[in-house]
Amino acid sequence: MSQLFDTVALIGIGLIGSSISHATRRAGLARRIVGAAKTEATRATALRLGLVDEVFANPADAVKEADLVILCVPVRACGPVAAEISKSLKPGAILTDVGSVKGSVVADVGPHVPAGVHFVPGHPIAGTEHSGPEAGFAELFDGRWCVLTPPPGADNAAVDRLRSYWKGLGSNVEIMAPDHHDMVLAITSHVPHLIAFNIVNTAAHLERVTESEVIKFSAGGFRDFTRIAASDPTMWRDVFLTNRTAMIEMLGRFTEDLLHLQRAMRFGDGETLFRMITEARHIRRGIIEAGQDTAAPDFGRHQGGSAAPATGQKS
Ligand code: NAP
Repeated sequence: MSQLFDTVALIGIGLIGSSISHATRRAGLARRIVGAAKTEATRATALRLGLVDEVFANPADAVKEADLVILCVPVRACGPVAAEISKSLKPGAILTDVGSVKGSVVADVGPHVPAGVHFVPGHPIAGTEHSGPEAGFAELFDGRWCVLTPPPGADNAAVDRLRSYWKGLGSNVEIMAPDHHDMVLAITSHVPHLIAFNIVNTAAHLERVTESEVIKFSAGGFRDFTRIAASDPTMWRDVFLTNRTAMIEMLGRFTEDLLHLQRAMRFGDGETLFRMITEARHIRRGIIEAGQDTAAPDFGRHQGGSAAPATGQKS
C-alpha cells in the first residue's frame, strides 16, 4: 500500500501506539512518525526501537505538523490530552483515538476539537495482556476489526482516509454509533475482563487453597482467566468507569443467566445444563470459523508470555 499521510503523531506509545508504528512502517503508510509519552523511559525506548522519528514530552509539540493524530492513551486521559493539543492541531488534520470505550471519548474530546480538524474516533479490537512500547508488533491488527464511530456530519473524505489507513494496518473496518459500540464491547470484552479479574482474586483469597496449588493446577480453565487478568490496571479501571452503564446492564443479564445455571445444578436439571453448554460451544466454533481465533489447543498462544502471537480479542 502507498503512503497515505505525511506525518502521523502517536500520543501515547504503549502496546497500541507501538503496534501502530510497526504496522504503519510495514505498509509505508506515512513518511514520518512522531510521538509523545508521559515518561522519559518510554520516550527513550520509543527512539531506541525506531518507533518514532522524533519524540516529545509535550503532546502539543508532537501534533504541530501532523496530518493524522492518534490518541493512544488510557480512555480517561483522552479528554485532558485533547485539551492540551487543541490549539496546536493543524487545520485539515484528522484526529482519532484507539480507546476501548467510545461514548466517553466522544463526550470528552469532542468539545476540544477546533473547526477545520476532522474528529473520527476509533477502536481497534485487537490487543494482548502486555503493555508498554516494547509490547507492540506489526501483526497485531491483521485480520481483526477496527470500529470507527464518526459523529453525524463527519467529513466523508476524512472517514474514508482513516478507513484506508486501518485497512493498510491490516484491519477490517466497521462503522458504528458510539453507544452501540459500547454495548457490544461491554459483553464481548469488558464484562469478560471484569469476570477474569474477579475469579482470579476469588481463587487467591481462598484460605484453604494455597497459592502454589492455584499455580500448579491452573491448567483447568483458570489459566486462561489469569492471562486476561494480567492486563494493565490503569487501562481497565478507565474502561470499567467510562463504560459502566452498558457494563452494569450486561452484568445484570449475566447474573440472571448464572443463577439459572446454579438453579439447574441445585435441582439436578442435566437437560438445562447440557443445552446451555451446547449453545456456548456453538459460539466458540463460530468465532473460529470467522477467523477471529484459532482452534489450536493453546489458542495459538505461545507459552512463556511472548507477546507476538497472542493476538487475542481484547478491550
Ligand atoms: P499502554 O501500553 O499502557 O500505553 C499507554 C500509553 O499512554 C503510554 O505511552 C503512556 O505513557 C501513555 N499515558 C498514560 N497515561 C497518560 C496520561 N495521563 N497522559 C498522557 N499519556 C499517558 O496502553 P495500551 O494498551 O497501548 O492502551 C492504550 C489505549 O488503547 C487505551 O485507551 C486502551 O483502552 C486502548 N486499547 C487497548 C487494547 C489492549 O488490549 N491493550 C486494545 C485496544 C485498544 P508512559 O509509558 O510514559 O507512562
